[in-house]
Amino acid sequence: TPRVFSGIQPSGGLTLGNYLGALKRFVDMQNAGTHECIYCMVDLHAITVWQDPAKLTAATREAAAFFIASGIDPERSILFNQSQVSGHAQLGWLFSCVARMGWMGRMTQWKDKAGKNSENASLGLFAYPALMAADILLYHATHVPVGEDQKQHLELTRDIAAKFNHDFGVDFFPITEPVIEGPATRVMSLRDGTKKMSKSDPSDMSRINMGDDADTIAQKFRKARTDPEALPSDYAGLKERPEARNLVDIFAALSGRSTDDVMSEVGGMGWGQFKPMLADLAVDKLSPITGEMNRLMADPAEIDRILGRGAERADAIAAPILARTKEIMGFVASR
Ligand code: ATP
Ligand code: MG
Repeated sequence: TPRVFSGIQPSGGLTLGNYLGALKRFVDMQNAGTHECIYCMVDLHAITVWQDPAKLTAATREAAAFFIASGIDPERSILFNQSQVSGHAQLGWLFSCVARMGWMGRMTQWKDKAGKNSENASLGLFAYPALMAADILLYHATHVPVGEDQKQHLELTRDIAAKFNHDFGVDFFPITEPVIEGPATRVMSLRDGTKKMSKSDPSDMSRINMGDDADTIAQKFRKARTDPEALPSDYAGLKERPEARNLVDIFAALSGRSTDDVMSEVGGMGWGQFKPMLADLAVDKLSPITGEMNRLMADPAEIDRILGRGAERADAIAAPILARTKEIMGFVASR
């Protein structure tokens, strides 16, 4: 069976973008039953920017609760945190020696996150895509569901696999397929239709957080920036209207309907009618998840046990792949 790997950073403050772009689709892939699914709290990635230790612990448990509350079954899927499986860091180093500086320097996320002060960014932030390639290829994963913002990193993962295979004359690492489909692969900021919704945006009004209460969600959608026009009659009419299109995309993704189907219902509506409908739908879909997250987080020992068990299962897949990689590269192993 084909294998899926994906992850989420425990860097605090999960958003509707993480839910629609990642979690909801992770659950769909698990439930389709066609793939073996491995999902990871990528704590080694989170520390590429400063993380307060106590907050990292809490955010890791919160992210795990988010997975389970959203419908990931830790028996059917493998759910764990990255730092417990040492193969990630090891293969990440090996890939740092395969990847080229120039490849990394072209990553838009590096340019965005390092900003103008790149001299002062961590070396890990620059090398991040090599570790991400290791996360995926450590399991020979063939499919990686992610949001649109990760597309460039996945192309780099393919380049690393291809260069490794070429340099060592093997056909060992698979060339992975990004899975970026559906109506909300890039959920945009509620304040600016050209920016992705992000937990790191300084404005809380720009995003819906997992954990926002019903009033907050209603207020954020009410204040979401839009143009003054009513909704057009079909989806094509949203082409030059990024803020309006974003809200329709969110509606479609939350309701599990196609954008065309949604437009046949809401076409022609004004914002005064559409925004409250959207808020009600969001509350309806998100509040059971946040309620369940709170229940799970009341028992951190149980979450830690689930992650520990997941790490053992992940390591059982990873260890032979790492051992074979080292053998291909010529490292002497103990006998
Ligand atoms: P950060 O701003 O710290 O990078 P993030 O919100 O981007 O945080 P990540 O942990 O980097 O979260 O990403 C987890 C997953 O969520 C990835 O698959 C990413 O593509 C997806 N994702 C993040 N933001 C969005 C968004 N606005 N729309 C769709 N998918 C998103
Ligand atoms: Mg991100």
